[in-house]
Amino acid sequence: MSNTNLLDFSPSAFVKFLKENNIKRFYFIYLPDEKRVVASHKVLGPIADFITSDKRDFDTHEGMFFSLLAEYDTILGAFVHRTNRGQAAGGVRYWSYKTMEDYFRDGMRLGKGMTQKNALAGLWWGGGKGVIAHNPDVDKYDPEIREIIYSEYGKFMTSLAGCYVTAEDVGTNVEDMQNIFSQTRFTTCIPDFLGGSGNPSVPTAKGVVSGMEAALEFRGMGSLESKTIAVQGMGNVGAPLIRFLFEKGVKKIIACDVNEQNVNKLTDEFPEKLEASLVEIDDKSIFSADCDILAPCATGAILNPETIGMLKAKIICGAANNQLEDTFRDDKLIFEKGITYVPDFLTNRMGIVNCANEQYGYIKNDPAIEQHFNPEWEYSIYKMAMEILTNSKTKNIPPAVAASQKADELSRIDHPVMGHRGEMIIKSLMEQGWEKM
Ligand code: NAD
Repeated sequence: MSNTNLLDFSPSAFVKFLKENNIKRFYFIYLPDEKRVVASHKVLGPIADFITSDKRDFDTHEGMFFSLLAEYDTILGAFVHRTNRGQAAGGVRYWSYKTMEDYFRDGMRLGKGMTQKNALAGLWWGGGKGVIAHNPDVDKYDPEIREIIYSEYGKFMTSLAGCYVTAEDVGTNVEDMQNIFSQTRFTTCIPDFLGGSGNPSVPTAKGVVSGMEAALEFRGMGSLESKTIAVQGMGNVGAPLIRFLFEKGVKKIIACDVNEQNVNKLTDEFPEKLEASLVEIDDKSIFSADCDILAPCATGAILNPETIGMLKAKIICGAANNQLEDTFRDDKLIFEKGITYVPDFLTNRMGIVNCANEQYGYIKNDPAIEQHFNPEWEYSIYKMAMEILTNSKTKNIPPAVAASQKADELSRIDHPVMGHRGEMIIKSLMEQGWEKM
């Protein structure tokens, strides 16, 4: 079996292959001394070799672990990127993939993204991501099936002994998190009625405001007062963002959504200053809105050469994850157009920040949360945005590149108490023969 074949397999075909080879658990672990990735099973060696040689998404990820949920022919995965700052933290998504290459690439990319987000936020967490590959023959919405899948994911977390701590993400909901939590302590984002931190959308919106204020200051454009802002998406983050912006005295907000209810609700609240429209999913008019700042708060991959070409905004700062369709191409394009882009993984950090320290308990107006909005704090959104935008200008590199460089530097600092423990956990799992347990 050549590596190309295995990577071209659909997840369902790959599951069949695993069953034929009697594999229930497998891993790919990076050996720093040998500078290569090893597989738990010889037959998976070609995938390990492919990962070792990949330059696009592989970035010496410390370990990637997988378990087969035979009942539903579903692959449960955990992509641990870097654990110097602490356990790898990041959400688990339930998503469909055409090929195993797409699956491995997405997991690696997302895991690294979490390392960057957590490091820039000054959290004592490493970065990682969970990905459950959806089997198209399984009803994604059946609550009983979901209960089994997510409970199994919880057991999978326990088996990993804490090198990865999971959380909520796209395709995963509050009940799913409760099911994970029923089987493991290695999760955050548990429901508030079980002692979790609750919905992070309001702090996320507040974080976007901080990012906007930094970008305005950076450009010498003053404060938010009297500015015009365009907001794409009036959902859990977009709606409180609009409220915060009006509190800050903006002149006008141009907003859009594909959901009529969300449009009507906000229009009723701000009948005079909000210009909200109901749009089709592929409508692009918001990108040519006459405004100072564009805030993408709907879906990802919306900034590409076409939409960037339409922009009149001087600043882009929003909550949506992965706003750039192609990180390097579009970051550069925006930079060359003289538009200030505040990288999404810097501004939308409050989702993970909100649940990151659940184990330390809660305080009203929690200083551990509030410091992220304090322009004086070293790791605050404002301060970090200023530092990154300044580096971008002085080094003449686009801001997402400047942010990645800073994040990379921070992510290599060892946890002040526990050191680089995640790596030790991974080594220990390997020595114990985790794949056979
Ligand atoms: P949401 O689903 O509540 O809101 C998104 C809104 O965008 C919805 O109202 C939807 O109808 C609308 N929408 C979808 N496609 C659209 C389109 N083409 N044009 C206009 N509107 C469109 O999600 P949310 O929690 O508000 O999150 C928004 C974004 O921010 C997502 O990308 C999410 O991953 C990211 N994010 C959210 C949080 C958080 O705390 N909720 C944290 C980090 C990142």
